[in-house]
Amino acid sequence: MPPLVDPVVSGVLFETDGQTPDLGLDKDVSVLKKAAPKKYEYVWFNIFWFLFLHITSLYGLYLVFTSAKWQTNVFAFAVHLMCAIGIGAGSHRLWTHRSYKARTPLRILLMIWQTMGFQDCIFEWARDHRTHHKYADTDADPHNAERGLFFSHMGWLCCKKSPEVIEGGKRIDVSDLYADPVVMFQKKHYMKMMPILCFVLPTIIPVYFWGETWLNAFCVPTILRYTCGINVVWSINSFAHTFGYRPYDKSLNPRDNIGTWMICVEGFHNYHHTFPWDYRATEYPLYNLLTPTIVFIDFMAKIGQAYDLKSVTPDIIKQRAHRTGDGTHYLWGWDDPEFTEKLKSQYGRVTNAEDKKFE
Ligand SMILES: [Zn+2]
Ligand SMILES: [Zn+2]
Repeated sequence: MPPLVDPVVSGVLFETDGQTPDLGLDKDVSVLKKAAPKKYEYVWFNIFWFLFLHITSLYGLYLVFTSAKWQTNVFAFAVHLMCAIGIGAGSHRLWTHRSYKARTPLRILLMIWQTMGFQDCIFEWARDHRTHHKYADTDADPHNAERGLFFSHMGWLCCKKSPEVIEGGKRIDVSDLYADPVVMFQKKHYMKMMPILCFVLPTIIPVYFWGETWLNAFCVPTILRYTCGINVVWSINSFAHTFGYRPYDKSLNPRDNIGTWMICVEGFHNYHHTFPWDYRATEYPLYNLLTPTIVFIDFMAKIGQAYDLKSVTPDIIKQRAHRTGDGTHYLWGWDDPEFTEKLKSQYGRVTNAEDKKFE
């Protein structure tokens, strides 16, 4: 039977998807963005679960400053960091985007940390995130930002997936995930491993090792830490798709935003959606040095656990920023002091001519 819906590709996923010399799609994706009227089927279990998490986390935040031991607070931050790296370096940059390769010990470590973060198993996370990139800001995007800030933040998890999202997910090639034994092991045992790693161990460890109370151990390193972790990732889907600049491709919703970066330590989302196979967060070395996920991948490369790290050449970045950027690119953008009026009119003509091709 033919599919009821036919999702339209609105983004690149791998460098092989590039249809122009500067690795973009050869069409105007800004006209593809849409959010057709739809009837939401609520998932009440998730709604009550998120309510419980956020209310308990507020109490957990109070406990951080009033009764939790300092070891508990440090432990909560350490677990948060491990989960962030498990998701950022693992299910995101390694398994979704294949932006580098990892040897088995590193893949096992990332799988354990990713399980601790409880945001679906790697297989589902990577398939959904590939769907997000390939059908970005259309009805086949699981957290379509065209439906508003709340929907792209957490609303999408409060209702059932639409037929477009399910169809988009089916069209994603996941053969590499099926071929990875670490991913398949986690998929098979996820519901046994996840509760122990995400909820049981982070509660027991502070009580057993430094005599923390059960209440503090449950509310701070377990519930508050977990709620912070999911909100960080959700903020990239919501705030980083709504606020900021688009130095690389102004036709995309994802934006570069220092504010989002300061909260999520991942905020260069226009760069990421323009070149998703680049293992770096941004082309700027300073921000990569301040991004734990990237520092971790670089360190793993130094000790031989990560290899074949992919990045985009400065020349391609320059070409792309010229052709499709919004003019805010720091070096070649309109506000650069060296970008004289003569150059502006010269490159402005080129940019306009390129834009005409998309109209
Ligand atoms: Zn995105
Ligand atoms: Zn991505």
